[in-house]
Amino acid sequence: MKSIINLLVVFLIITSCNAQKPISEVKKTDSNDQNNPKLVVGIVVDQMRYDYLTRFDSKYGDGGFKRMINEGFNCKNNHFNYIPTYTGPGHTSVYTGTTPKYHGIIGNNWYDKETKEMVYCAQDDNVQSVGTAHDAGKMSPNRMKTTTFGDENRLFTQMRGKTIGVSLKDRGAILPAGHTANAAYWFHGRDEGVWISSTFYQNELPKWVSDFNASEAAESYLKVWDTYYDISTYTESGSDENAFEGGFKGKEKATFPYDLAKLKDDNRGFDILKATAYGNSLTTDFAIEAIKGEQLGQDNITDVLTVSFSATDYVGHNFGVSSKEIEDTYIRLDKDLERFFKFLDQQVGEGNYTVFLTADHGAVEVPSYLQSMKIPSGYLNNKETRTRFTDYLNAKFKSSDLIENISNDQIFLNRKYIDSLGLNINDVQEAMVNELIGYKHVEKVFSAHTMTTSNFTNGIESLLQNGYNQKRSGDIILVADPAYISYGKTGSTHGSGLNYDTHVPLLFFGKGINHGETYDKTVIPDIAPTISALLGISFPNAATGKPLGFVID
Ligand SMILES: [Zn+2]
Repeated sequence: MKSIINLLVVFLIITSCNAQKPISEVKKTDSNDQNNPKLVVGIVVDQMRYDYLTRFDSKYGDGGFKRMINEGFNCKNNHFNYIPTYTGPGHTSVYTGTTPKYHGIIGNNWYDKETKEMVYCAQDDNVQSVGTAHDAGKMSPNRMKTTTFGDENRLFTQMRGKTIGVSLKDRGAILPAGHTANAAYWFHGRDEGVWISSTFYQNELPKWVSDFNASEAAESYLKVWDTYYDISTYTESGSDENAFEGGFKGKEKATFPYDLAKLKDDNRGFDILKATAYGNSLTTDFAIEAIKGEQLGQDNITDVLTVSFSATDYVGHNFGVSSKEIEDTYIRLDKDLERFFKFLDQQVGEGNYTVFLTADHGAVEVPSYLQSMKIPSGYLNNKETRTRFTDYLNAKFKSSDLIENISNDQIFLNRKYIDSLGLNINDVQEAMVNELIGYKHVEKVFSAHTMTTSNFTNGIESLLQNGYNQKRSGDIILVADPAYISYGKTGSTHGSGLNYDTHVPLLFFGKGINHGETYDKTVIPDIAPTISALLGISFPNAATGKPLGFVID
């Protein structure tokens, strides 16, 4: 009897499985609807070193960086895992979950081996500007070879989940938002001071963008930039007047206050805003309007907003890591973040959105400052290196025409010419490596042959390999000594595989995020798989990072 009942139960189960269920009975799974955040906001702070979180800690309020730390997850040992640490590769790696080796954005600009000319990472001559008559809008992600998590979210939701990208810099808006973005917007300064886009996304600006531009929001920030708190309390940075910073044209000393309305004409018009703390406030204003205008986070289908704060990078390049200007820029960014999170609480609802914050690279302390403190550092004399190398080529190969281009610490060889001389490309590369390693402040030199025939698992070598794209990268790759840069004697820059360039913040908070912190090493390509895992969607197609399981609820 029991077995008959069992059979009957099995029969009932089978028939009920075959029957179509009404939609209301379909069990909701983790990978859709209300368990997911309504909105994911990715924030990249351009040139933010990890220690900007800790150095200025006493100046931050509870609603910005500290809210992310106090409510969310803090990955304290987060690094870039490739060279070069520049803006284009940085933004791309955050959102694609991989490195230049696969996503193909090997620099901001690089030498194109096919067309034999320098190209820009977001340049696209096949599209037109939208919102300006200038060429500043002829941009798209066409050189990025792989998908972002935003792209995967678009595919997963059958294009119902939106993606919008926002940044002062075109590349900071375009690359994160991906190929399927509804739109990316960036700032065009000069005499216009407007947010623009390209025909890659749409043929005209939506009303909310034209309205924003017409509101003269940019104009309103052409005011005096003084420190947020009394400058005497800024003990976390060096003296306001020092020999290590650039400053603005038309003002003799690089000291507070800065009258931006007055300085505007000598500093490319509205572009002056980019190099002040107000550039980030303007970005925040625009991001808020984007959420309202595009109705992001208003239904159960996850939308994605990518925001990049670029002013921090311009200020760092101009004034340096230890400047009062950098300190004030971070104090004010913290206020902008607080305002932004409060807006999200109210517009999308507290607990309905997820935010992560990281950087696209760090920055070196100004080498001339380090030298004054007796730390080994300095400036590379590229002219001297070039002359010596040309002399070597003429002596060894009877010609210097073997070189096609030198850029981004890489040498591109004229392979056809080398072939016509009857020389073997690998032999030529090896000879050059042996020559160049003898030069001043050259710490390491590698050939393309080595990059493609070895498998490095740690050290600078593995960082170079993760940044090496066989199709696009050069024949010889040089690495300079720590804190030696090709740059002017004032201000900071970046690009290396050293800790000052690789160690950046990684904070998560909001829906689905655990509270905690870790010193376990995480790498930038882990971010996109973590967000993908949170949303239950496919990883970006070439992702090499791993989801950070301890971060997700
Ligand atoms: Zn930079």
